[in-house]
Amino acid sequence: MNTIAHTASYLANHDNFIIIPHRSPDGDCLGSSSALLLALRSLGKNARIALPTPATQRLSFIWDESYEWGDFEPEVAVAVDVADTYMMLGLYDEIFAKAKSTVCIDHHATNPAFADVNCIDATAAAAGEIVSEVIEAMGVTLTRDIAERLYVAIADDTGGFQYSNTTDRTHRIASKLFKSGIDSAGIMKALFATHTKAELELLKFVTARMEYHFGGKVCLSWVDSEALSASGAEMPNADAWIGLTRSGEGVEVGLMFKLISDEEIRVSLRSNNYVDVSAVAKKFGGGGHVRAAGVTFSESFESAKAKLLAEPEKLV
Ligand code: AMP
Ligand code: MN
Ligand code: MN
Repeated sequence: MNTIAHTASYLANHDNFIIIPHRSPDGDCLGSSSALLLALRSLGKNARIALPTPATQRLSFIWDESYEWGDFEPEVAVAVDVADTYMMLGLYDEIFAKAKSTVCIDHHATNPAFADVNCIDATAAAAGEIVSEVIEAMGVTLTRDIAERLYVAIADDTGGFQYSNTTDRTHRIASKLFKSGIDSAGIMKALFATHTKAELELLKFVTARMEYHFGGKVCLSWVDSEALSASGAEMPNADAWIGLTRSGEGVEVGLMFKLISDEEIRVSLRSNNYVDVSAVAKKFGGGGHVRAAGVTFSESFESAKAKLLAEPEKLV
């Protein structure tokens, strides 16, 4: 595994970068990627971001057209917050595998260290913490634009500093970001307390469909095309309500099933205190963190659900 210092000097010694976040980009990968892009550009380098799938409206305030990958030959490809190569979808073959050299900056314990330079730290609450330290080690001035993006990254993956991944390091970094004049309250409101009407309509389906298993220790819900068309929401809106599946009193594990198609079911797993959901996800080919993980099944909802509920000893 490579250190922050090594990664910083590696980046400082190259000039043309393509940065790749994971599919369905969240605040951590988009905030970290855009902060890294601005930091590299401030050092006079070329940097672009290639998105495996488009960013949602929720995060448009940290995105700019000028970041988009265009006509430009990258030298170094940098994967950010990408737990495994398949999380880059087709961009893995199209860009990452073809780059002269590769870097991975990540915080998923299940990451197999797939790059030439691997800066992976599973104790970091967000990739944004690692990117903050890499940027600092490169001697980049923390502008408000960079700081706000790093703050989005860290706030998103810690649920606004609520989750158990939040540490003194998280707060130390956040404190430095504050000193760059960020609008913390505005960012928190945008990330956690602003919903489209369609997203709120979708919430009715999410709560109405909640099922409890194993004496109330596991709670699941599901979003399908019917819920989406009735509410006017899109599948990424379901992410706003994943946390609710583990919020019931006495619930240890929350599962949100996203029915992408008849044979593609994406499941988000969350736990509160003791279940390692990354181990559960890994068993079915997915991965993630101890308290937040994901897995995709190529089968029906009923069959994916039966598989996940088949081994209660792993879930409760
Ligand atoms: P999600 O439920 O999609 O928000 O994902 C929770 C966490 O698990 C995030 O850190 C994801 O990057 C990670 N994750 C989701 N799906 C997978 C997967 N198939 N393989 C590895 N990590 C994943
Ligand atoms: Mn992420
Ligand atoms: Mn992350």
